[in-house]
Amino acid sequence: MNIILFGPPGAGKGTQAKELITKFGIPQISTGDILREAIANKTKLGLEAKKYMDAGNLVPDEVVVGLVEERLKNKDCENGYILDGFPRTVVQAEALDKIANIDKVIALDVPASEIVERITGRRTSRKTGKIYHIKYNPPVSENEEDLIQRDDDTEVAVIKRLENYEKQTLPVLEYYKEKNKTTIVNGSRKPEEITKELIEILGK
Ligand code: AMP
Repeated sequence: MNIILFGPPGAGKGTQAKELITKFGIPQISTGDILREAIANKTKLGLEAKKYMDAGNLVPDEVVVGLVEERLKNKDCENGYILDGFPRTVVQAEALDKIANIDKVIALDVPASEIVERITGRRTSRKTGKIYHIKYNPPVSENEEDLIQRDDDTEVAVIKRLENYEKQTLPVLEYYKEKNKTTIVNGSRKPEEITKELIEILGK
């Protein structure tokens, strides 16, 4: 089953993808994570991508399409995958259609008014990669407290990311709606409730 998890930045795509990969035994392919890894490894790609990312802009289509194309060739994608944060432009969606068959698109719907608070409070555990929120979902265990904030989770970058989402990424939702593959899910609920609904939808 090849799935796209769609939604604005901070909608909970990463959080939900992590639950779904355990449930369905397929990998999460997050272009954001791949790019952050390239930055951490100080590769040429990482250094180039960081400029766009820190400013809240999208990395050029040909770069991300190339990354995804390579990643989908991996053996672990044989039985399906969850795309998280890709495609983000219609050009990317069209390129994806040439290399993959997408079964379902799940769009997490969260109003723009909630996004800034969600993202600026977002923290990731350095140890486990688990995503928390300092106010709404702080870590319980002491071991989890090595939290880091993403460089692009600042208020200025978030506002830019939201603008770009509306301009460049929302048309992708229309693209998939026309193909009758899309389910819109209310993303303004407790993560567990959303996971339950996603499992129901994907189990069908
Ligand atoms: P994310 O972790 O999905 O929020 O992505 C973080 C940043 O990585 C985005 O704001 C973009 O700068 C870049 N990025 C991730 N995925 C894509 C994509 N599909 N197309 C272009 N840029 C992307």
